Amino acid sequence: MIRLFQIQSLPRYIIHPSVLPFRTSVTQRNFFSRTSPVLCHPSRQRERNSQSGVQFSRYSPWSDEFTGSQGTRTVIQAVFFSALLFGVAGYIISEKSHVPPVRKYASPKELETAIRELQAAFPGPNMVVTDPNVLKVYGSSEQSYHASSSHAIVVRPKSTEDVVQIVNIARTYRVPIVPYSGGTSLEGHYSGLATGSICLDMSNMDKVLSINVDDSDLTCQSGARWEDINQTLRERGIPLFFPLDPGPGATIGGMVGTGCSGTNAVRYGTARAEWFLNLTVVLPSGKVVKTRRRARKSATGFDTTKFFIGAEGTLGVVTEATLRLTPVLPAKVAMAQFPNVHKAVSAVQEILNSAYGLHIQCVELLDDHMMAAINTAGLVDKPYPVADTLFFKIQGDPSCIQQTSDVVQSIVKRHGSFLFKFASTEQEAEELWQNRKYALISSLTANPGLRCWTTDVCVPVSRLPQLVYETKKDLQECNLRSTIVGHVGDGNFHALILFDRDRELDAVSGAVHRLVRRAIALDGTCTGEHGVGLGKKEYLSEELGANTVELMKTIKKAIDPLNIMNPDKLYPNEEQITK
Ligand SMILES: Cc1cc2nc3c(=O)[nH]c(=O)nc-3n(C[C@H](O)[C@H](O)[C@H](O)COP(=O)(O)OP(=O)(O)OC[C@H]3O[C@@H](n4cnc5c(N)ncnc54)[C@H](O)[C@@H]3O)c2cc1C
Repeated sequence: MIRLFQIQSLPRYIIHPSVLPFRTSVTQRNFFSRTSPVLCHPSRQRERNSQSGVQFSRYSPWSDEFTGSQGTRTVIQAVFFSALLFGVAGYIISEKSHVPPVRKYASPKELETAIRELQAAFPGPNMVVTDPNVLKVYGSSEQSYHASSSHAIVVRPKSTEDVVQIVNIARTYRVPIVPYSGGTSLEGHYSGLATGSICLDMSNMDKVLSINVDDSDLTCQSGARWEDINQTLRERGIPLFFPLDPGPGATIGGMVGTGCSGTNAVRYGTARAEWFLNLTVVLPSGKVVKTRRRARKSATGFDTTKFFIGAEGTLGVVTEATLRLTPVLPAKVAMAQFPNVHKAVSAVQEILNSAYGLHIQCVELLDDHMMAAINTAGLVDKPYPVADTLFFKIQGDPSCIQQTSDVVQSIVKRHGSFLFKFASTEQEAEELWQNRKYALISSLTANPGLRCWTTDVCVPVSRLPQLVYETKKDLQECNLRSTIVGHVGDGNFHALILFDRDRELDAVSGAVHRLVRRAIALDGTCTGEHGVGLGKKEYLSEELGANTVELMKTIKKAIDPLNIMNPDKLYPNEEQITK
């Protein structure tokens, strides 16, 4: 008698007829139906065995009492052991193919190698910095209270080719890269990563490369400051300017990164309008792309320039940009004061919707606290009355300015303005705008020793008075001091909350959170112009919806599969999406 195996104690309950690769005979069906029910548990099996006693062994192919033919016995045993062998082999293969998880970013040793390679690639003076004090400064911001870490190294490229080289080293060792330009962003946009990051300081790439006056465009490196660009145009007697005006010191790369705007947005729109005609970008793969050519219009496919506007350095490094310019027009500055924000905003709505609305270059709101801060900071010759105030820039030829001014004056009066005046001299006009632009400095100078958390939100203009009213009430109830300035023509406002860092940071963070939720509830956005960075990413799902966030993440994954470009910023993590 040939017995393949004679192991009485084998766990019979693991075989089910459905796994047999052949049609069962009557005997076999009988056997299985009586001795091996579907995945029968051993305890049930024992019960059955005790009931059936010696009968059981007649059906077991491992028993001497087996009643089937030798062929049947062999087939059943062969099938059983084949299944067992397949199971064991499958298990071993799956265990062997289980590769340990890939480390997300460089190990300390790999990071060291990457740093050495960068030092060797850029031996010039000041091109590479590893001084811990400098690394800390680059990795954090005086104006952001979000978590931050030092970078592992700062590299200062001079050309697109340099950036390609840095990106290639970073990718090889999986070291995150954080682009840094003017460093004026406010939401922890360029903070370093604790696992080690390369800070790409673009300040050496600040050249204007060409100016095409006839086509009113200019090409520059991405580290050029918007103020320097306009100064260059003025110095060369070119009557054109670039109208995006974010914080003093901001540069083109950072302005693309945050999708900035500023006081001129009411007339000229934001970075998302077509002010960037073409961008040169180094992708995480090391490939260089140009998003367009210099033509004013293009309908070639979708707009890849827009991928990078507001991407906060998470999709690639912008190295050059072609900017559209616009004529400098004469302008006149005026101010109007109101009993409350509601009246000021309703005046703005009527002015912008009138036939003269197009001649309003800027209209800015400064609340009573901000006006008081300007007075206290001592930056003006004569103190202003303390009240909610609008500043206007009216532009056009002299007759147009005159007509528009008359209309503005009559509308603000109808909306309760008790004081309206034009800046009488160029110097006074300049001073008015400087005060608006340096609102942050005025707020801090007026409150020595305090820190300032600046946040921005934007709502449909008609909802602005409600938002300002509820926010001021909330801040008052929390005993927090704040000034408010806003690009009121766009429904965009900034709360500058002043606080003692040691005692009041939590209270400020709570107030900012409530302000953002209020803005979104009013059909607005968590940020009108400062961008998301670390500070606002938790609100993206609520504002845009999970599907839109998923679309953004899909694009990010496709362009940067290793997630080395400014990780942790902009895209909410899974937990924030679920929440
Ligand atoms: C006093 C003050 C007033 C401000 N007023 C305004 C305002 O009116 N309107 C407004 O919009 N903002 C304002 N801001 C915010 C700030 O000026 C803008 O966000 C500005 O666009 C940031 O430019 P930056 O060069 O300083 O960028 P950075 O702070 O250096 O970087 C910003 C982001 O862009 C990325 N980035 C930088 N360079 C590149 C590059 N070459 N390629 C790809 N990504 C890059 C960075 O990684 C980061 O995520 C103000 C800030 C301050 C301090």
